[in-house]
Order: sequence, then C-alpha cells, then structure tokens
Amino acid sequence: MSSDKTNLNPNEYVMNNYMELCVAELAPKILATTGACTCDNCLLDISAVALNNLPPKYVVSKRGELFTRLAMLQHQFDVDIVAQLSKAAEIVAKKPRHDV
Ligand SMILES: [Zn+2]
Repeated sequence: MSSDKTNLNPNEYVMNNYMELCVAELAPKILATTGACTCDNCLLDISAVALNNLPPKYVVSKRGELFTRLAMLQHQFDVDIVAQLSKAAEIVAKKPRHDV
C-alpha cells in the first residue's frame, strides 16, 4: 500500500479516531480565542492532554467520505472538546515545552 498522497483511493475504507480529527480541527481555533500559546509544541501537548480526557470515537468510512462525515458530526462533540481543550491549555501553560 502506497502512502503517496497522490495515489489515495477515495473508495478505500480507513479507520480513524474521529475524536482525534475533531480535536486537530478545533484546537488551533479554540486556543487562539483563549490566548493560549499555539506554537507546534504547545498545540501537540494540549491536543494530547485533551484527547486523553475525551472518549475515543473510532469510525470506519471511505476515505472520500470521511470529511463530509467529520463536518456533520463535529458539532456533537464541540462542547466537550472545547471544555477539555481549555483545561488542557491551562495545564500545558504551567509547563510549556516551547523555547522562550
Ligand atoms: Zn508554545
């Protein structure tokens, strides 16, 4: 199986942690509004902390349909994700790993 993005088959079934996709999608937007650091390190740290406190939500869907589904279902988790991202941002802000 090739990982070359130009060869991705939209009809191929893929498994993803839907919650992870939502967090990746929402984290930069939410954190920008809370004034948290959004450098790559903090973004990853905050996402990891938040995801450890959110239930995983594995879904299998065709690659080409995944993002349609993502857009449709995302709002169901928004409140929980925002709450966990805010908590995670506070935790990471106390021990940031960025170089300042
Ligand atoms: Zn940072």
